[in-house]
Amino acid sequence: MRIVAIEGTAWAASAALFDSETGEVFIESDPYEPDSGGIHPREAAEHMGDAIPDVVSAVLDRAAETGDNGAGAEIDGVAFSRGPGLGPCLRIVGTAARALAQTLDVPLVGVNHMVAHLEIGRYGSGFDSPVCLNASGANAHLLGYHNGRYRVLGETMDTGVGNALDKFTRHVGWTHPGGPKVEEAAAEGEYHDLPYVVKGMDFSFSGIMSAAKDAYDDGVPVEDVCRGLQETVFAMLTEVAERALSLTGTDELVLGGGVGQNRRLRSMLEEMCEQRGAEFYAPEPRFLRDNAGMIAVLGARMLEAGDTVPVPDSSVDPNFRPDQVPVTWRDGEES
Ligand code: ATP
Repeated sequence: MRIVAIEGTAWAASAALFDSETGEVFIESDPYEPDSGGIHPREAAEHMGDAIPDVVSAVLDRAAETGDNGAGAEIDGVAFSRGPGLGPCLRIVGTAARALAQTLDVPLVGVNHMVAHLEIGRYGSGFDSPVCLNASGANAHLLGYHNGRYRVLGETMDTGVGNALDKFTRHVGWTHPGGPKVEEAAAEGEYHDLPYVVKGMDFSFSGIMSAAKDAYDDGVPVEDVCRGLQETVFAMLTEVAERALSLTGTDELVLGGGVGQNRRLRSMLEEMCEQRGAEFYAPEPRFLRDNAGMIAVLGARMLEAGDTVPVPDSSVDPNFRPDQVPVTWRDGEES
């Protein structure tokens, strides 16, 4: 089966071709890079409008080169990220996906972006039923499968983890995205103490970010604040991930989301898993940050399960939670 997918929930205008027989995932992405400040929804949507036709064309060219029957042939379905994300961006992606599916006369598959972050880890690891830590820009949560759905075992009570780091870096005048700059600066710094906020299975970043901004304004070296931020925020995520493993009795952890590119976060999770005899898997970076590859891989499984959406019912949902998704593609697997 070959499936084309389109992703554009926030900053990455991305299209992909996935061949479920060869396992090949071809991804073409064009990131939106704000001149200043963070992601501006209107500008991001304008970027989607400009970039989506080009990334889709590149993927269709690839499909034509690798297929037997010429352009557009041998594509069995079109998947798209239906949410969660920025409404103006999602609407452009939805329109592009509907148009493409109708042009190719193939079924349309509406994919939850956060479930795709999880499933690409499950696909890459071959794990049976892992807990997933989604550490992305706009989200931070732990997911575990139970009784036909991915349940949210714990989540941020305010901002997503990447957005929290980005807000701090905006405060110090660094360009977007801030996460990689925090990682780089932290390597040069000494640990600076910041508030640690975990409440049961949930956690909060807003107080830490205010304290980090105050520390910087009070003259604490930015490298030290970055070191404190990484150690504190990632220790919180690691604690909750460990509790999720313990509660579910699972010994498999996968990582999802753009913040998962951070080496310190990965090493903390790896060490925790090693200490409790669990297995840890982090997908390669191109599958961690937003990308259409993960939408294509999950889209193919949904299509195989007959989980398609008629065009009139295919509206996008900026607040689409992972636990709203009936998991149709795991039939016959253990819960
Ligand atoms: P979501 O997937 O929830 O819709 P999103 O679209 O904003 O979120 P992702 O592509 O998953 O984003 O992640 C982008 C985030 O990852 C940004 O906030 C960025 O600062 C952060 N990030 C990227 N690289 C690193 C890194 N090395 N360390 C920490 N954070 C990072």
